[in-house]
Amino acid sequence: MLDFNELDFTIVKFHKLCSALVNNNYVPVTMEHYLSSRNDLPERFVIMRHDIDKWPKAGLRAAHVEKDLGLKATYYFRTKNNVFVPQIIKEIEKMGHEVGYHYENLSTADGDYEKAIGLFEEDVNRFREICTLKTICMHGASLSKHDNRDLWNKYDFRDFGILGEAYLSVGDELNYFTDTGRGWNSKSNLRDFIPGKNKRIFADTTDNLIGLIERGEVDNLYITLHPERWSANLSGWSFAWVLDLGYNSAKAILRWMRK
Ligand SMILES: [Zn+2]
Repeated sequence: MLDFNELDFTIVKFHKLCSALVNNNYVPVTMEHYLSSRNDLPERFVIMRHDIDKWPKAGLRAAHVEKDLGLKATYYFRTKNNVFVPQIIKEIEKMGHEVGYHYENLSTADGDYEKAIGLFEEDVNRFREICTLKTICMHGASLSKHDNRDLWNKYDFRDFGILGEAYLSVGDELNYFTDTGRGWNSKSNLRDFIPGKNKRIFADTTDNLIGLIERGEVDNLYITLHPERWSANLSGWSFAWVLDLGYNSAKAILRWMRK
């Protein structure tokens, strides 16, 4: 029988990861804070980013864990009906976390730039009716042929009062870690990395990542994590495991086709 407390990608493991950051004095910095204070950052810091792709309630769960430990994170929400839940978004912001927009307008508009920027503006306004919006972050849409970041080859997000984009506006001094592909910087990850940054630190398991934090191997961490992957019980965990297996297989086929 699987022991839930020993599994990776659970809310228990997430709590351990957050505790390690706090106990080893990584100062939490939101994306907005990072972008607006680039020259005045703590010696040791962590940007904790959450992409809410599917289940906002899982985001809320993670937000509570962080709040209890005194960690501030940045939560990026898609605007799909089941994800954009104003009540949850407001609650997360009230806890002191930053809320941002996880945009995917170019892939939604199937590459039509003009249509995409119109949709983007509408979405930005939807956020601003309920919360502060300063930063944005692309949704990878790895099964689409469009890279949502390409929208900014033609338009400028600053024209919409946006301070920065979570991939395009960050510096290469950051050590980026993502749970996309159900590992840390797994190869089952087609778009989720900082463009131009070649050095990627791999960590198979969250325990390995925690080890790196405890040894203080890096001065900063930029961690991206999808809370829906970090289950609160065994059935949720099994479901997420199967979903990830499916995604990783689909992406392996795409990687092979694009070669
Ligand atoms: Zn996403």
